[in-house]
Amino acid sequence: MSKTPKTRKVKPAVEIGPGDLLPRLKDQGYSAERVAQRRAWVESKSHSQLTHIGTHSIDTELLRGNIENPIGVAQVPLGVAGPVLVHGRYARGLFYVPMATTEGALIRSYERGMVALTRSGGVRVAVLEDENQIAPSFFFEDVAGARKFTEWVPKHLRGMKSAAATTTRHGALTAAKCYQIGRQVIVNLGFSTGDAQGMNMIAKAGDAVCRWMAAQHPGSRYLLFSGMCSEKRASGFVMLRGKGKRVTAGALIPHDVLRMYLHVTAEQLLRVWQSTVIGHLQAGALGYNAHYANGLAAIFIATGQDVANVTNSAVGITNFELHPDGVYVSATLPALSVATVGGGTNLPTQREALKMMDCHGTGKARKFAEIVAAAILGGEISMGAAIASGEFVAAHEQYGRNRPDK
Ligand code: NAP
Repeated sequence: MSKTPKTRKVKPAVEIGPGDLLPRLKDQGYSAERVAQRRAWVESKSHSQLTHIGTHSIDTELLRGNIENPIGVAQVPLGVAGPVLVHGRYARGLFYVPMATTEGALIRSYERGMVALTRSGGVRVAVLEDENQIAPSFFFEDVAGARKFTEWVPKHLRGMKSAAATTTRHGALTAAKCYQIGRQVIVNLGFSTGDAQGMNMIAKAGDAVCRWMAAQHPGSRYLLFSGMCSEKRASGFVMLRGKGKRVTAGALIPHDVLRMYLHVTAEQLLRVWQSTVIGHLQAGALGYNAHYANGLAAIFIATGQDVANVTNSAVGITNFELHPDGVYVSATLPALSVATVGGGTNLPTQREALKMMDCHGTGKARKFAEIVAAAILGGEISMGAAIASGEFVAAHEQYGRNRPDK
């Protein structure tokens, strides 16, 4: 990498005095006393009272590694939906799914869909692939130099794997694929990440791989992130290539369940599916789904996932097909970023939420992914049915309004 040139000291457009900057507190300020001190400072600066933010049961020392400048805890309402009956390789049985949200009607809708799926006999789920990725860019003098590099990479996977292995016990480099654009080469590095989401893990491992590769190519330069891996981005690349868990969930909903519990006929549900596919095409949407982001965000907040990963995780395809006995419904999420280790999964409330599904810790990430996919399918059929039956607005009026003048 080239060195950043030294710049002249310039006068900033806005002067920030020492009294405007957050106080630098001892030990980075994670003790209860320091957190309270920082909160009091913010209260006085902002002329506000942070009573609820400061009232919680969490030991603030546990927040190290998850947040900087802590002033307390955001208490997000937590509800539960289910039961959803899951038939997977890792998840088997009835599950109750924790969801944290402030959107009224959301949990009731997921609950309705999950119960309908359970009454239909349950959801078949499968984790099809499990691999996170990071895509560094390498730069060469010309197209020919870049081309040589693309031929070199597949022959040196073993050395690259060894370089990655020096940085992590649970992660492993599984694949490297080159994409040449002029004299730049993006190398998509695929990693298995165990039960972790793995971005910290593979950023470190990917950097070690790049250093090793650059050392074999004197004069080459690289940047660790090209953006192609689509971390926290919706893209056609993650739609096809996947990211994290590629998982699919499907179920046959019989005619009587459709009528009794979802208040629709198979034809009505298909009509909604078909017309909203057209709407998605007109919008140029990536994939098609009713509202994966809703359920994912609520489950992610409850269970300590990185909520920004909803952006890539919510890319996917929901399919409804007419069947002689009802409607066959499926949800496929090619880029589901979920973990049961690392990130926010070990914080006290998040750990409890994962434990509700027996999904905390080692050996549980694929089970969790299967349950999430089943829950998301519940949200898809409930939303489709609410639109088909004309109950959508009424449900939100009943559960989801908070007019300030009430
Ligand atoms: P992490 O909390 O940084 O690290 C988790 C570590 O747990 C792993 O690296 C692994 O150590 C260890 N571990 C123990 N048991 C494990 C098991 N059964 N399976 C897998 N690992 C196990 O979490 P992370 O998943 O690497 O990173 C997720 C976090 O990265 C998220 O919170 C997200 O906010 C953040 N993030 C980072 C970047 C970035 O570019 N750095 C980008 C986006 C998001 P070993 O590696 O030693 O085996």
